[in-house]
This record gives sequence, structure tokens and C-alpha cells, in this order.
Amino acid sequence: MTMPDAEVPWTGGCLCGGVRWRSTAPPVFQFNCHCIDCRKSTGAAMLPLMFFPAQALRIDGPLVSFASRGGSGGRIRRDFCGRCGAQVTAHVDMVPALQSIRAGTLDDISRYVPKANAFLAHAPGWMPIDASLPGFPGLPRPRDAERMPER
Ligand SMILES: [Zn+2]
Ligand SMILES: [Zn+2]
Repeated sequence: MTMPDAEVPWTGGCLCGGVRWRSTAPPVFQFNCHCIDCRKSTGAAMLPLMFFPAQALRIDGPLVSFASRGGSGGRIRRDFCGRCGAQVTAHVDMVPALQSIRAGTLDDISRYVPKANAFLAHAPGWMPIDASLPGFPGLPRPRDAERMPER
């Protein structure tokens, strides 16, 4: 039986359609990130994130990049559409084999299924949190991610 998660490709794009992405592999991780950097870089209270194998992901369009330092000191490069400003993707130097896609850019948003809540220590008190998901005060470590429930 084929799991819906495993159906490929996964596709999405920015607000204006100038940037399009496509992955020939399913996401490795999916979680809601409540960290301050995600909040500030999107203007939203929480960022739904997917991580795809970098070699399976193709992104086309007029991307503009901004880099910052993550909490652990590693460089994070966020790529935005140069025409509409939508944040589409990010690359974390510490995990070069994976590339993050902002789940809100999915063509079919129902395909995003969060497996955890990360950086809950920074979530505002008014943010509803799904208590049925594993929650972490900071970043889930790989061994925690392995325990994330499959749907
Ligand atoms: Zn755009
Ligand atoms: Zn974050």
C-alpha cells in the first residue's frame, strides 16, 4: 500500500508563481517551528516546515537570499521570491543534505502533516498548541525526530 506521504512529486510555489519547487522524494521531517528567527523572517507566529533531501529538490525562479546565524552559530540562508517577497526555502549549513521548504508554499496544503512542535519555549501564550503532537522546548534532536509518530 502506498502511503499518501510517499506519493511524488511534491510541488509548490510562491504567491506570484514566479518561484516553483518540486521534490521527487517525500519530506524527511515535518514540524511546526515556533522559534524567534522563523517568526521574524515570516512575520507569522509559527512556521510549518518540511525538510526534503536536497538532491531530490529542484527550485526555479527569481530567488533572493538572506543569511543569518542560527542559535547554534551555524549559517542559515533563507531564499525569497524576488518579485513577491514570499519566503520559499532555507538551507542550514549544519545539515547540508537537507533543504527546508516553507509548507505554506505547497500547492496542496493538506499534504503537510506536522509531526512535532519545536521551540515551544518561544511560542506566545495565545498560540493554540496541538497537545497530541510531541512538543520540544527547542529543536528536536535526530533521536527525538525518530520517535515522531507516523500517521
Ligand atoms: Zn513570487
Ligand atoms: Zn524556526
